Amino acid sequence: MFDTLSDKLDAALKNVKGEGRINDLNIAETMREVRRALLDADVNYQVAKDFTNKVKAHVTDEKVLQAVNPGQQFVKHVYDELVYLLGDVHVDLNQAKRPPTVILVAGLQGAGKTTFVGKLAHFLKAKGRSPMVAAADVYRPAAVDQLETLAGQVGVPVFAIRGADGVPVKDAVAVAEQAVAEARRMGRDTIIIDTAGRLHVDEAMMDEVVAIKKATEPDEILFVVDAMTGQDAVNTAKAFNDRLDIDGVVLTKLDGDTRGGAALSIRSVVEKPIKFAGTGEKLDALTEFYPDRMAQRILGMGDVVSFVEKAQEQFDAEEAEKLQRKFRTQEFDLQDFYDQLQKIKNMGSLKDLLGMIPGVGKAIKQIDVDDEAFRHIEALIQSMTPVERAQPEIINGSRRRRIAKGAGMEVQDVNALLKQFREMKKLMKTMSKLQGKGRAVDPTQ
Ligand code: GDP
Repeated sequence: MFDTLSDKLDAALKNVKGEGRINDLNIAETMREVRRALLDADVNYQVAKDFTNKVKAHVTDEKVLQAVNPGQQFVKHVYDELVYLLGDVHVDLNQAKRPPTVILVAGLQGAGKTTFVGKLAHFLKAKGRSPMVAAADVYRPAAVDQLETLAGQVGVPVFAIRGADGVPVKDAVAVAEQAVAEARRMGRDTIIIDTAGRLHVDEAMMDEVVAIKKATEPDEILFVVDAMTGQDAVNTAKAFNDRLDIDGVVLTKLDGDTRGGAALSIRSVVEKPIKFAGTGEKLDALTEFYPDRMAQRILGMGDVVSFVEKAQEQFDAEEAEKLQRKFRTQEFDLQDFYDQLQKIKNMGSLKDLLGMIPGVGKAIKQIDVDDEAFRHIEALIQSMTPVERAQPEIINGSRRRRIAKGAGMEVQDVNALLKQFREMKKLMKTMSKLQGKGRAVDPTQ
């Protein structure tokens, strides 16, 4: 995501990063390059121009020129301006004073609306809410099926109206209206309504969404747009906002090699916050949009916050305590190792995770981090018996051959895994001893 933009900004800012003094000449040159990087990323021309002018105004401020490390301050100004451009602060979804909260989801066909409705239901459910989804995209029978499948995967009810022949009844307003009533009756706290999109903005589509809006009085209208469509995304957002007065934008497909222009221009052109970003086809590939975190990623500063959040989701405190105990007492076995690997895997790809650590972001792009390596370790452990996982020391020559064969690998792969595991255990022992010491002398504990 945003790789090219990151690289170009990085290159542009290299000019000044190491400079002890910033002068008019390198400011002008750097700003030209920053602007070019933004334009290449398909950022709206006016937006890019305003951006560089603002940074320039900050940088040429006298105080800044005399500062100790002007290069870093320069980068900081670019960062601040990026955060501002992306919307400054995160904006949460609106909530109804009296449930159910009605969320209307609109956008062009193929933008990722239906997928997003499923993802949002999943996201809200994980937060303890009780969403329900409604299939008001009644023209494409497949859309209703798709939503039913997604709802089944998430484990939330779905509202649809089908005729005796099983075909969806073509009255989107009725579906939406009845869905809200049904959500209220069932005591669901949120109803998410999926609507029909067309390939291009057209009046009939807009009229229908406007009618649904009138009938259901949504608390939140989200406009879903494919980030890969660049400037078109901005224009479509404007068209929808003019008719619907949307509350927020959802950018999908930010995982693709989008140049990022949409993300960077939408906020200032449409003046509505980006609330979510879709980063893949799976149900959990949805992140709340935080301008500061996104700017950090664009500038390759790493995204520690979302890294920590992801880690917290996977590792709870009680379990961490249990693991610590196992490290100390050397009871940590291959089964535990396997379980931990699953959790790391659930957090995303190894490369993505490493990319979020500050300083690693840039370096990692050149290295081929191999998620395959994970799969190999997994396959080997899966091929072991429970006793072998608990007591790896009993794994002798014939067991090694059997394990390798079961995993479709070589004996030396088993050897390598066991060696790595032994070394890891040694390291953990040393680390937990050190930690133990620290705690014993800490007077605040
Ligand atoms: P709709 O017509 O707006 O309802 O769009 P769909 O939800 O059917 O999505 C269209 C296609 O985009 C599907 O193949 C989805 O799997 C895919 N898609 C949706 N969101 C994302 C995303 O965030 N990333 C990627 N890579 N694909 C997505």
